[in-house]
Amino acid sequence: MTETVLITGGARGIGKKIAEDFATLGYNVCINYNKSEKEASILKEELASMGYSVLMCKADISKENEAREMIDTILKTFGKIDILVNNAGICNYELFTDISYDNIKKIIDTNLLGTINVTKEVLKKSMIKNQSGNIINMSSIWGIVGGSCEVVYSMTKAGIIGFTKALAKEVSLSNIRVNAVAPGVIDTDMLSNLNKEDIDNLKEQIPLNKIGTKEDVSNVVLFLSSNKSKYITGQVISPNGGFIM
Ligand code: NAP
Repeated sequence: MTETVLITGGARGIGKKIAEDFATLGYNVCINYNKSEKEASILKEELASMGYSVLMCKADISKENEAREMIDTILKTFGKIDILVNNAGICNYELFTDISYDNIKKIIDTNLLGTINVTKEVLKKSMIKNQSGNIINMSSIWGIVGGSCEVVYSMTKAGIIGFTKALAKEVSLSNIRVNAVAPGVIDTDMLSNLNKEDIDNLKEQIPLNKIGTKEDVSNVVLFLSSNKSKYITGQVISPNGGFIM
């Protein structure tokens, strides 16, 4: 039976590349999006025209009911979810003393609560029932070492690491693996607040002397979702060009 993968925030950025890569491997690919409906439709059409099996799933993952309805729709369509990639996330570049309460709540609700909402439904309704599954959570190097002017974002990404380790222990006997990917600086819309000088400064601090690509992250996700990593759970792998060691 064809395996099914759900990628949150799969219509653009890193999530889009992950969705494309899973599609080419023959998975049923569920692409969650919130605001990027147009990008999701274009991606679905592109992949469907190549014969791949794709489902577009609208949900603001920070809302429990939307996450629940999305999972129910996927299970009605494909029967099970084998791999969950909790990729959706937002950031904010601002002094901690300046960030508004609304922005703090939005970052926590998306990055932490969103991951919780989706994972809980997938575990309860599919993976634990099937005694099989694989969950990959998107953290960040800032969740490991902390990023100045990204304090709340760093806090949520550190939270994702704690979540990954604790959940990996809790569900291991159900044959479910849980790991995290903690990318360094990757070329996506998330870098749009940086100018050329900022990017050049960053490159100088990265031993491999370049910004990472979406493929660099997707390759790690594919490894963690494959049998090649079958003895790996509760771990954090960081594609970062040596930026942090
Ligand atoms: P991006 O291009 O800004 O994309 C963010 C994605 O998150 C979009 O697909 C967006 O979907 C989705 N999203 C945001 N809020 C959502 C919500 N409430 N419900 C559902 N989806 C939501 O960012 P990216 O660089 O690809 O980042 C992907 C992940 O990698 C994030 O978790 C990020 O923290 C992490 N990361 C990125 C970098 C980097 O340098 N780029 C480094 C380390 C970690 P819509 O557009 O449909 O709303």
